[in-house]
Amino acid sequence: MRHPQSLDACPTPLSDAGLLAATLQGRFTSPCYWTFKAQRFTWLSEGILEIVPVSEAKHEALVLSAGIHGDETAPIEWVCNIVQGLMSGKIISTRPLLVILGHPAAMRVQRRYLDENLNRLFKPTLTQSQVKPTRETEVAHRLMTTVSDFHTRHGNFIHLDLHTAIRESLIEQFAIVPQSHPGYRWEEGLQLLGRCGIGAAVRQSKVSSTFSGWTHDRLNALSFTLELGKVAPFGENDLSRLASLDQAIRVQLTHTETDTTSANTAPARSETAPLPPVFEVAQEIIQTGESFTLEVAEDIPNFTRFDNGRRVWSDRNQFFQVENGPLYLLFPNPKVPKGQRAGLLIRRCE
Ligand SMILES: [Zn+2]
Repeated sequence: MRHPQSLDACPTPLSDAGLLAATLQGRFTSPCYWTFKAQRFTWLSEGILEIVPVSEAKHEALVLSAGIHGDETAPIEWVCNIVQGLMSGKIISTRPLLVILGHPAAMRVQRRYLDENLNRLFKPTLTQSQVKPTRETEVAHRLMTTVSDFHTRHGNFIHLDLHTAIRESLIEQFAIVPQSHPGYRWEEGLQLLGRCGIGAAVRQSKVSSTFSGWTHDRLNALSFTLELGKVAPFGENDLSRLASLDQAIRVQLTHTETDTTSANTAPARSETAPLPPVFEVAQEIIQTGESFTLEVAEDIPNFTRFDNGRRVWSDRNQFFQVENGPLYLLFPNPKVPKGQRAGLLIRRCE
């Protein structure tokens, strides 16, 4: 793709439809730009908009992605509200911002995915020749290229990949934190999560092929996957449940004070938000085959607590019960193929 600085002006600005409608209607044709209120908007590809201050950006860049799973509509609607605020001039960003609606084709049919789960395909080794191409491998390739180019243009960035869950959760909004490099900006990340109203942070125990795992691992971004409540169809979301996130990101985008002590990511104004409790993975529950049984109710909520002695899973030859508890259950799903992850048991860190 041509460098954004050399593009043509958009023949039909996005502003009459908004990013969500334009994406659902498949209106993208080719990369183009417009400027408004000292911000340059570049419509890079379907569902992807870059917004950059015309004068030199003073703060670290931000990537907000939603719709990696096409039916997770609340964060899609929320991030499009932020875009609307920028396009109307109500928000003037002091940072380069990349907004990504990850999987437009799945969004149009409000399905999680078409061929396979996109959020397992962000791998450094992924090329079209190494994996059997699906519609999702093409999307993953496009997103990795786009974000790499953004990183080349704007340097370090924070990445929030926004999702909603299928099941209930005793902690409604929580973050998955990629397995971190040494020197990871952990304190700063927790503060940001606290300001966003996130109720728990779960640290991954190994490198993962999720979008946020990839941006952290490959581009050293301060990255999180955020689970923000339950799936609902477009138009049926209560976005007031995302009020803390909304407030924190608006502050993040617009704050102007000069901070030379850190990477300029911590607005002073809401530093008092409580830090979320941190959990780490105690055990991955692996599907062991035909006789595998996850001994929990089908609709058990995330973060259900298991005390010592509680049997969690069994098969013909073995069973697992909790020792050194309490442990908490996350993402239970016994209907995965043998050898794959059927859930996580996590432990609260002191
Ligand atoms: Zn998701």
